[in-house]
Amino acid sequence: MYMSVSDNLAVIRDRVRSACVRAGREPSGVRLVGVTKTVPVERIREGVRAGIRILGENYVQEARAKIGTLAETDISWHLIGHLQSNKAKPAVELFDWIHTVDRVSLARALDRQAQKLEKKISVLIQVNVGDEESKSGVGPDGLFDLFGELSHMDGLHVRGLMALPPYFEDPERVRPYFRMLASLLQRIRDRSASPGDLTELSMGMSHDFEEAVEEGATLIRIGTALFGSRPAPVS
Ligand SMILES: *Cc1c(COP(=O)(O)O)cnc(C)c1O
Repeated sequence: MYMSVSDNLAVIRDRVRSACVRAGREPSGVRLVGVTKTVPVERIREGVRAGIRILGENYVQEARAKIGTLAETDISWHLIGHLQSNKAKPAVELFDWIHTVDRVSLARALDRQAQKLEKKISVLIQVNVGDEESKSGVGPDGLFDLFGELSHMDGLHVRGLMALPPYFEDPERVRPYFRMLASLLQRIRDRSASPGDLTELSMGMSHDFEEAVEEGATLIRIGTALFGSRPAPVS
């Protein structure tokens, strides 16, 4: 059965509201990032018409074309995929937020480009909460040093943390990783001179966003549940 993006969005917002009630949170504290990798522009436009204002892209190249096409709309673009330092320049030009800062060298490259453009870019530190080899992200032990370095960079505005936890069929099993990220955020707030800036937890995807919201997510990254399933990657 075909579901329009606006129908999907209504369902997601309902589920977010219920999760907020369970957790005693305000739904306005949860923002939805529509994840557009492989989604055709027409379908993205449908989402924008339905009220989505933050779009998340995994790849700089793919984003460039889409951002150009959707330039007339008031969208905040977030980079949510792994970023190589040699793509720092286009990343800073194209995106408002980068969720995947996980090493000093990348942060330095972004800072340099941001200062050149006289821009302050919002960043999240990606944490490898499951300690998985296949995934990017700083280990929980390295987080505090990395945060210390980033907080001195004038081109960057560190806003919080992001995680891509291990996949489990049962989203209850992801909950401990969401909790871990929330408690790490609390710990860097405790060390920060401006804890009020550190408010964001980017966590939760189509199959586990309710658990993420219950554990404090402020940015949920939703692709499939919003736009429908993606074509299988060609390998
Ligand atoms: C693809 C992707 C998502 C969205 O995944 P869905 O399961 O389709 O909601 C979220 N975050 C990242 C980093 C992704 O790559």
